[in-house]
Parts: sequence; C-alpha cells; structure tokens
Amino acid sequence: MPTQKPKYKPSQRLLRYSKSLPGYTLYFVLVLCLTFILLNSLYPLKVNISYSPVITASDGSVINAFLSRDDKWRMQLEPDEISPVLKQALLLKEDKYFYYHPGINPFAISRAFANNILQNKKTSGASTITMQVARLLYPQQRTYANKLYEMFRVLQLEWYYSKDEILQLYLNLVPFGGNIEGVKAASVLYFQQSPRQLNLAQAVTLTVIPNKPSSLRIGEQNERIVAFRNKWLHYYQEQEAFPASEIEDALLEPLEARRQEAPKVAPHFAYRMYRRYKNQPIIKTNLNRQVQEKVEQLAYNYMQRLRYQNIHNAAVLVINNQTRAVEAYLGSADFNDVAHHGQVDGIRAVRSPGSTLKPFLYATAFDKGLLTPKSVITDVPVDYAGYRPQNYFGNYNGNVTIEQALATSLNVPAVKVLDQLGVHTFVQKLKQAEFSQMKHMGNQLGLSLILGGCDVKLEELTLLYSAFANQGRYSPIRWLQQDTTQEEMQLLSPASAYMMSQILTQLTRPDLPHNAHNSPNLPKIAWKTGTSYGRKDAWSIGYNKKYTVGVWVGNFSGEGVPELNGTDSATPLLFDIFNSIDYNSSDGWFQQPKGIGLRAVCAESGNPANSFCKNQVLDTFIPGISSTQKCSHLKSIAVSEDHRYSYCTSCLPASGFVQQLYPNHAPELITFYDSEKIPYQQIPAHNPTCSRIFKEHAPVITSPAAGMEYLLEQEERQQLMLHCNAHNEVKQIYWYINDKFLRATASNEKVFFEPQRAGRYKISCTDDQGRNTDTYISVKFL
Ligand SMILES: [Zn+2]
Ligand SMILES: [Zn+2]
Repeated sequence: MPTQKPKYKPSQRLLRYSKSLPGYTLYFVLVLCLTFILLNSLYPLKVNISYSPVITASDGSVINAFLSRDDKWRMQLEPDEISPVLKQALLLKEDKYFYYHPGINPFAISRAFANNILQNKKTSGASTITMQVARLLYPQQRTYANKLYEMFRVLQLEWYYSKDEILQLYLNLVPFGGNIEGVKAASVLYFQQSPRQLNLAQAVTLTVIPNKPSSLRIGEQNERIVAFRNKWLHYYQEQEAFPASEIEDALLEPLEARRQEAPKVAPHFAYRMYRRYKNQPIIKTNLNRQVQEKVEQLAYNYMQRLRYQNIHNAAVLVINNQTRAVEAYLGSADFNDVAHHGQVDGIRAVRSPGSTLKPFLYATAFDKGLLTPKSVITDVPVDYAGYRPQNYFGNYNGNVTIEQALATSLNVPAVKVLDQLGVHTFVQKLKQAEFSQMKHMGNQLGLSLILGGCDVKLEELTLLYSAFANQGRYSPIRWLQQDTTQEEMQLLSPASAYMMSQILTQLTRPDLPHNAHNSPNLPKIAWKTGTSYGRKDAWSIGYNKKYTVGVWVGNFSGEGVPELNGTDSATPLLFDIFNSIDYNSSDGWFQQPKGIGLRAVCAESGNPANSFCKNQVLDTFIPGISSTQKCSHLKSIAVSEDHRYSYCTSCLPASGFVQQLYPNHAPELITFYDSEKIPYQQIPAHNPTCSRIFKEHAPVITSPAAGMEYLLEQEERQQLMLHCNAHNEVKQIYWYINDKFLRATASNEKVFFEPQRAGRYKISCTDDQGRNTDTYISVKFL
C-alpha cells in the first residue's frame, strides 16, 4: 500500500516535539513512550475485520456478495476504488489535517475542550479519522477514562499503519445504518455501482450519513439527507474545493436511491467461488458480466418454451478458448425455481454423456493411425461377448465413413472403433482430461462408455471440447484473475484436432435443429449433440476460435422426456448463445496446422487408392501416422470360364479360368446383407475337387459368446442361438454340439439349440470347405 508521506514512529515524533522543552518534560515524554511500549505489548492492536466476501467480474464490478460472519454487509475496498472526489470531500469534512497530525489533532482537542468548559456545550470535530477508526474497532462508552484508552489505540494505529491504510479502514468500517458498513457496501447496495464511479453528489451523500446513520437512512429520509448534503456542498463551494459547475450540478441532483438487494448474478458460480476461496474478502474472477447476463436471459427465455414439454432445467458453460477463463456459468436456467431444483448446479452434476464423447474417440483413433475422416467402417449388428450395441434409430447402414458415422452419431461404428483402440487407452485419455469418474472407476468401464455408459459433468465435456479449439491442448479453467495459465497438455495432435473440427463443422447432418437448414443465422461453429439413454440428458457442445460453449438440457429430477434430444432441445440454445455473444466473429476459422496431409483415397474403403479403385476422393491424413495400407475393396479371384467355380493356388487348373475382381466384403457385412436381403456380388463356390483346407478363413462364431456362462430358465425351455460369420465363398455350414452333429444350414442362417443339462458345452462350426472353429461355453439352469 503506498504511503503518502514518510512515516515516523510516534516516539520519534514525540521526541521531535519535545526538543525545545525543559528537561522534566523530556523525562515525562520518555515515561509516556515506555508506558506505550509496555501497554502495546500487553494489549496488542487487533484489527480482525470480518468482511462480506464479494465476487467480482472481469470488469471489477460486484456480481455477488455474501454476508460477513457477523451478518454485516461490509465489503472491503480495493485501494484504487477510493475516488479522489470521495477522499477530498471526506477529509475536508472530517479531518483536514489527517495527513499531518499523529492521530490526534492537539488544536482541535484544545478547541473542543475549551468549548466544553467555557460554554458547556459539546463540540464535535475534535475526532480525527484515526480516532474514529479506534472507536469503530473498540466501541466504548464515551467517558474520560475511555478517551485515554482510545488515545492509546490511536497511537497504536498510527504506529502500525500508514495514513492511507487508516483511511481505508475508516472507509471500510464507517456505519450507514442497518447492517451496512463501509463505503463499498453502501455504494453497491444504495447506488448499485462501485465506489470508483461515485459522482460528487453521491460521494457527499456517503460522507454525511455516518454522522447520524440511524436517522439518515437512504430510501427513508432522502429529503433530510439532501438537505444535509447540500449544507456541506455549500461549504465546499465556499472553500472552492471542487469546480463550481460540478457543485452546481450536485446541488441540483435528486436523491432517488434506496436500499437494494445485494447483486445475485451467476449464483451457482458465486457460491462455488465463495466455497472454494473461503477466506478471501474479494474474489476476483474472470466472469464476463455481459456474456453472463446474455446467457442467463437467453436460457431463461428458451426454457419458457420447453416448459410445456415437461423439460425444466438447463445449464450452460462458456469458456474463452484463448484465456481459459470461464466467461459465463449458468448452473440452472432459474436459480429461484425451487419446484424444479433450480439450486442444483448443472455444470457439476454427474450425468450420462450420450454420444458426446465420440468426437474425442475418433480423434484419438486418428492419432493412433487407425482411421482418417474418410475411412469406411461397417455399421452392422455386432456382438462383443454378449454386448450388442444398437443405433439410436434401430437401423444399420452397412458401410459408412467415419464422417458419416459421426454426423449421424451411429453407435455401432463407435463401439467398433473403441474396441479397436482399446477401452483402457481411451479411459487413460479421459483421465488426462481430468474426467473424475475415469480416475476412480475407469477400470470398471466397458465398451458402452462411448454410448453414454459412464458419468461426466458438463464442465468436463466443455473443457474437453475446448481442447479441439486449442490445437489439441488441454488445460484447466482459470477461475480467478490471479490464476496464471496452467501447464497445457497435448491431448490430441493439432492435425487430429483440426480434422475433427472440419468434420464437426459440416452442415449436412441430421442433428441440425428443425428449420435451421434454411436459416441465414447459423453460427459458424463445430458442434456435437448427445442424448442419453432414457432421454434424460440433451447435450450440445460447440466451439469456434474464441469460445467453447457447453449446453445441457434436461430435468434435475432425472425424469426422462420423450421429446428430449440434443438436436431439438439443446442445439437451438447453443446457436442462440453463439449468435449473441460472438455474432459475426471476426476471429476467422482455424488454420490448417502443419503435420496434416491430403491424399487420394478410394471411396469404398477410405484407404489409399489401388489400381482398381475407380471412385477416388480426397482425404486428410497424418503423414507418418495414418495407415498407408492400400485399398483392398476388390480382390482378384481365379474363376472357371463359366463363372461357376473359383480356384485357389493349389487347385488352379492350367487353363480354362479367368481372373475376375470381386468385392472383398468383411464377413459381418455379408451376414448383414444376407439377413437384410441386400443383393451383392458373390464369389462363385470354391472348386469342389480342391483338396486344400483354408484355415485362415474359418467361420467366426458370433453367438454364443466364447467363454460365457449362460443362465437359462429350464422350465421355459430357453434356447441358445447359434450363429457364425462365414467366408463369402461358403454356401453351407455344419453345427456340432460336443462333437455331435446338430444341423446343416445355409451359411449365416441362425440355428437354435436347447441345452438339456447344465455344464460345459463345446460348440463347433464347420464350413463347406472343411474349415472348423470351436468355442466353449457353460450353461446353468435357474
Ligand atoms: Zn478401393
Ligand atoms: Zn482350391
């Protein structure tokens, strides 16, 4: 804190005064000094002020405040909040020589004493500001003995504090009636502004009230206050303390102020900061007041419309990608909506993410070289040891690209990619991104986590998406202005983050809200929606260069609603927010980073084109990382001239065959085509006279799941389904139970079998080429 003038210790000052005095006076002063030192050690000065914690926004304005421990509104001033006008008005009125006396003004005291004795009337004005502070800190009855005690405290204050600090103590403690103390609380509660912005009339008003705080209450005795105020303004006019025109204006200014509630902007945020930084009287956050108020208003209005669908809550988090600051924090759309648990903080609530983790999964797979945006993946029924993921609409699409899988938020491809990547690898990634459940229970999660089978918070998801906007770098939120940018962690490569942003920006997608297709006001953002199982959570999380915005809509009660989904329930609010807080953003779009390449790939597979790939498209890839395996969407097969039989190298005749290209479909895709009766080009049956047995294309038993224990209801005579994916040349398959023949069927047909006893079963499937696969299960009866 700056000091106005060099500070003398009281003893030095007294000694200085005493130089010209006779010896016994010097002796007397020495005794006084020693007495002071002794008393000072016995009764140390305690300035233990309990302030009302205030939460300030990035512009310094108070957005929220809490009562002090002794239930007062007593907000601590910041040194730069004392306006020169207020300071001058106050010093001129209370203590002209504040900066020049040692806490006690001997002339004023003598005058008051003389008045008391000679005229037998009380004269005020003898109290210096330091004396008033001593009285505010140690309230005592006004007796002569207590006056001495007060003097002692005054000397202590002057000893330990600079003049500016004493002035600040005064301004923090001075009473304004009721439970309002200090100039800051008075400015905020009466004038709804910072003391920094007080004009002359307001400043003078605040200097006159403390004289009679109980009878000069703003809002109750405004006329009396104005009379008092103007009396002092006239005094300042005589003293020429302020420019004449300013005083003229101030004299004419009406006083319409009355006591208002303390500000309650961003209540969830404020409460969180209050709990987190409990002992700080001023909690300076990065919240952007304008953005916060816009988001509050948009969400409130928006939820009025959803109310009629029995959807009552929403939460929004706005993170500035460049500063990592939280600019808006809306824990619920209406804090005061008690009926729908408005006090719950939806930003920290634990919810199911629906599909919102998929972009992170695919981007991680880009970085592992497993995929590129145009990679083709099968979307067909699959079974992972009994787990059979289904798409949202229950349909399957056969072959799809990663872009399509993401745009239409298909579940089956996501599970497939997670299976390829490994649940453990993905959980580790989410742990790095500070997902709290991953830390505690990550090893208990399975493939379903990518479809929402895990717990996340809106805060975690929004931060994760802001890594896409930051070239794949993750770093925690900067809550306070004093927080330095914390260490960033490269969660994804810049190339992968960019590739994902490009996919999430595409507009040909089904998760565009109704009527949005033709809207001229679509913000340029990358975004992803999500809907949790049971339609309990609607998510929409989007970003551009400047902001990442996370929107959650649902019911805190956990009640699902048939109409609830990310596209129609959350995305319109996301778009509204972007259009409002960053309309026509001048920041532009992400630049393509280094380490990204462009290559021609076959549209059938997404792999680098082969000589037979006619349908080529351009795709981004990560050189040195992305797989360079060439496309094999076709394979060359030797077939008889009449196309009835195919040959392998061991049975290839010397002549009478042709090389023909056939689609090289994955076995599960063939199963899907067969079951859906989708025609595809089949390879002719293998040469029946061939002696070679191809071990490498043996059937894959997809049901029952290997090694599983099946619990069956014996009385219901439950059956087990047998199914396999056979090679696409196979026409017939043969099922065996414990080496006993069961049935022959067309390849890919389902067979049912009823176990007669509990225990272990060997299940074998042999195809018409003689290739065999065994699997073992156990059966228990309930
Ligand atoms: Zn190809
Ligand atoms: Zn052969």
